[in-house]
Amino acid sequence: MGERDVKAGEVFKWQVSRRGFLGWGALAAAGALAVGGIPIMSQTGAGSQTRQGGSRVQGRTASSARGAHLPPVQFDREVYTICEQCVWRCGLRAKVYQGKVYKLDGNPNHPNSNGMLCPRGQAGIGALYDPDRLLFPMVRAGDRGSGLWKRVTWDEALNYAAQEMQYLKEQFGPESMIFSSTHNLAQVQFENLLRAYGSPNYGTQRSLCFNAMIIANLLTFGMQEPGRDYSAAKYIIYTGRNLTEAISNSETQELIAAISRGTKVVLLDPRFTKTASKSTEWLPIRPGTDLAFFLAMLHVLITEELYDKEFVAKYTWGFDDVAAMVKPYTPEWAASKTEIPASTIRRIAREFALAAPHAFVHPNWRTSNFVNSFQAERAMAIVNAISGNWNQPGGLHAGAGEEGGGLGAIPQPPYPRTTALRLDGVPWKYPMVPLEIGVYQEIRDAVLSGQPYQAHGWFVYRQNPVASLPERRKTLEAFSKLDFIMTIDTTMNDTAWFSDLVLPEASYLERYDPLTTAGDAVFIRQPAVEPMGESKSALWIFKQLGTRMGLGDYFAYEDEEDYLRQQLKPLGVSLEELKSKGYYRPPAKPAEEGELKFNTPSGLIELSSTSLANSNFAAVPVWEEPPAPSADQFYLLTGKVAQHTQFSTQNNRLLHDLVPENSVWIHTKPAAAKGIKDGDEVFVESAAGRVRIKATVTEAIRPDCVYMAPGFGHLSKGTRTSYGEGASDSDLHITYTDPISGGQALSQTFVRVYKA
Ligand code: SF4
Repeated sequence: MGERDVKAGEVFKWQVSRRGFLGWGALAAAGALAVGGIPIMSQTGAGSQTRQGGSRVQGRTASSARGAHLPPVQFDREVYTICEQCVWRCGLRAKVYQGKVYKLDGNPNHPNSNGMLCPRGQAGIGALYDPDRLLFPMVRAGDRGSGLWKRVTWDEALNYAAQEMQYLKEQFGPESMIFSSTHNLAQVQFENLLRAYGSPNYGTQRSLCFNAMIIANLLTFGMQEPGRDYSAAKYIIYTGRNLTEAISNSETQELIAAISRGTKVVLLDPRFTKTASKSTEWLPIRPGTDLAFFLAMLHVLITEELYDKEFVAKYTWGFDDVAAMVKPYTPEWAASKTEIPASTIRRIAREFALAAPHAFVHPNWRTSNFVNSFQAERAMAIVNAISGNWNQPGGLHAGAGEEGGGLGAIPQPPYPRTTALRLDGVPWKYPMVPLEIGVYQEIRDAVLSGQPYQAHGWFVYRQNPVASLPERRKTLEAFSKLDFIMTIDTTMNDTAWFSDLVLPEASYLERYDPLTTAGDAVFIRQPAVEPMGESKSALWIFKQLGTRMGLGDYFAYEDEEDYLRQQLKPLGVSLEELKSKGYYRPPAKPAEEGELKFNTPSGLIELSSTSLANSNFAAVPVWEEPPAPSADQFYLLTGKVAQHTQFSTQNNRLLHDLVPENSVWIHTKPAAAKGIKDGDEVFVESAAGRVRIKATVTEAIRPDCVYMAPGFGHLSKGTRTSYGEGASDSDLHITYTDPISGGQALSQTFVRVYKA
């Protein structure tokens, strides 16, 4: 009996069977079972069809001859909605025929996609018709992780969740319940539930990603992430940002267009990424020394007076402190740290100054690399500031805000006051970290230590701490200390697998989410097709759960469409109009004239930070020597491939077929010394754990580094496509937290590699 045949009240075991049988043929059969046959999944004997364009066409012709499952050339309708295969939120058009989605294309009216989708976006159909989709609520029926589940009704599931959460609140206080979620459109109502419940403990993925960048920019410019104007940029410096593989659709398009126009692109990265191959100049910097590079750039710009004196005098604060600080940081000094020649650093500083203000150092994205990454981000921000590139063509500018856009808010009563300390140490241990950002990895460690108090429950909404937090062993150990874990997701990810209650969310092609803005317009996520099984939208789940806990007043909407209508009310546009076009562009407001103002204590760009000084941190960036591996160790680097988003897409069969597993990259020289050949199985071992993985022997990485893509090595037998494929970087990463930004230093883990 398959899981899909289980009746309410029945117990079943979810397991991977006939592991080696999981080729396209088997998956196609499963897909057909799930949706009644979608052409892309139901062609038989098409094991290599996506790799061989010729045979794929042949296959369709053959199918046609049999009259079976030929994709339609015309569709019943086209639905405008928003991609959720990553956080970039591209507008898309879902092409629907007889109640099924057959094709996804970019929405030309959406600024994040400009009519194009990346590989993950196009493969959204694989997420929708994943045979491992969660179709009904389930309660654990054996030990955690045993795979024994009981199918329950929504009523039973919601009553159980409400009862457990209420019990923990009454016994141990609302702070005993941890809530965690990731960047998504329904997050606002998850946060509403958390605040109404009264817990201060909220974990987001940000400290595993970009805390260093966000907090450095908040302190310098008074905003989380400055926007970039590629259209007139003459010179761009990236540090590890790999836009052609860690794709941010519209920005990746902008970069490629800039390269085509002749913009000079300099990339600092220990690995020769695909972005390196497109750059004008690749500098294989020693990991952890970006700060030295930018301190030396500042030294050159200031000592050679290559900065914008007028802009600095008018709009910045603390220039003299920076000038005094950078005196010893010569390019020769930086060369000894970065292993980039002093002459190169000096030349790049001069070239950048010559191109300014039509030049920028990219603020980066995943900046959690070393505990000195925060200071590196500050130094980069200061290079930008003194070049006078603010609001200049080809420079930096205020990023478009995500919130607001004139949308109405759902009325809410005041939230109860929370007085308990936060488990993540914000702000009592991490005073510079904003409350809404937090220090996620500290929550896990607080569960383990029971300090400052013991947590008892964890509510995970569309997130996966088992796969994402460093030291997976510790995360599972922390789970063992909790009385109740519940997860909402679309598939049985590793965290759901170890939960007590799993609730199925409708996929992004089947549900409404709160409206969002991009550029100067409002966009809608709306169902292209009916939700599969009993899956529901998060807006529905949160309201139902809140109501059962006596918090119904906080969810003042009848249903999803009513929620959206309340959001649209101030704009005077109907939901029907928005649904038909996919977007609404309010009349443009006249541009505000006036002096530049920055949301910092001084109202200026803070080269020297008063907030840092007030909290006894260095007000201007100073060199902090990062730890280095011993002679027999390597830096462990991680970074995305273009076909996957963190750990959430590996079970998508379309993407799995392209990149089914990860490998560890190792340079040819150390590989030869260790007798490792390309494709060999090796062990990678850190102080946190050991994984077995295939080796890719290559010259495209520094000899002192190894690299692996994150997100593989799933533990959940409920994700049958990806289960056990590749290895998990979370088994290897050691938890190091930057005391200022709270960022997890992901590249500060050192490993040994040897033949298996
Ligand atoms: Fe989807 Fe790709 Fe856009 Fe992300 S960048 S939202 S995956 S199309």
